Amino acid sequence: MRKYEDYHKSVMVEEVLKFLVTKDDGIYVDCTAGEGGHIKAIYEKTNGKAKIIGVDVDYEVLEIAETRLKEITDDIEFFKASYRDIDIVLHGLGIPKVDGFLMDLGVSTFQLKGENRGFTFRKDEPLDMRMDPDSDFNAWNVVNEYPEEQLSKIIFEYGEEFKFARRIARSIVNSRPINTTFELVEAIRKALPAKIVYNKRRHFATKTFQAIRIETNKEFDNIRTALEKFPDFLNPGGRICVISFHSLEDKIIKNFFRNNEKLKLVTKKPILPSEEEVNENPRARSARLRVAERI
Ligand code: SAM
Repeated sequence: MRKYEDYHKSVMVEEVLKFLVTKDDGIYVDCTAGEGGHIKAIYEKTNGKAKIIGVDVDYEVLEIAETRLKEITDDIEFFKASYRDIDIVLHGLGIPKVDGFLMDLGVSTFQLKGENRGFTFRKDEPLDMRMDPDSDFNAWNVVNEYPEEQLSKIIFEYGEEFKFARRIARSIVNSRPINTTFELVEAIRKALPAKIVYNKRRHFATKTFQAIRIETNKEFDNIRTALEKFPDFLNPGGRICVISFHSLEDKIIKNFFRNNEKLKLVTKKPILPSEEEVNENPRARSARLRVAERI
């Protein structure tokens, strides 16, 4: 049996509870259920009175969340769906309004460490990176089928690889076919100067892998679509809490919250994790929480 410490370490749990849970008997939707860490915290904080719905595109992580939560309750409803289809999920459940939506963006520990998911440059695996294992589009398609110009744009924008995007895209195109994560790492390595390759602070493939993951899963497009849908499903006073890890994600959320007439800002500036949390969990370092409330 897995021990508590083996699960994905949820970020900013105290802050999420403080801003998301406005009443104990509310209805809360965790749109990125992952391994269920935030759901467990919401359940405990509300003494089991809240109705909690957990949504995730990845049935492997959902199974982990379900098994983990079953030890304490059978009352959580789990759905394998994309948050961009949140309207379909809630209509299907016959729930017209809820009191809070949570999104904790990024990758779960299970996805990074799991077998053959192809998210990490640290293991040699088939190129994949799908959060949704049912999707018929994966990182192989991006790396092997996109024109050089489009690859370069993605690496520049989503990877924030401002200096070397063009060179990396060219090297990828020249190295095709690229079937594995290590073949991709090698194509990236060939494009970079030695001082970047041997930089100890950050692996040289980090930014390109991030860019390809975001494109493979259409992450920014999904976030925009879901955000547009949330306000119509919120009771007045209900909240949207989003934890992001990428400056472009944060920008999408900030602009949406500022410009939506059905919402008011609860946090004018993003809430950052405490120093203590960052020391304990390095993944929390770039986390930012923004919160808006239904008027
Ligand atoms: N909060 C979770 C916890 O405490 O265990 C961890 C969430 S993890 C950082 C992000 C999750 O979002 C992953 O499990 C991933 O599969 C999921 N995800 C990514 N894109 C999604 C989408 N479009 N719809 C639903 N879930 C998605």
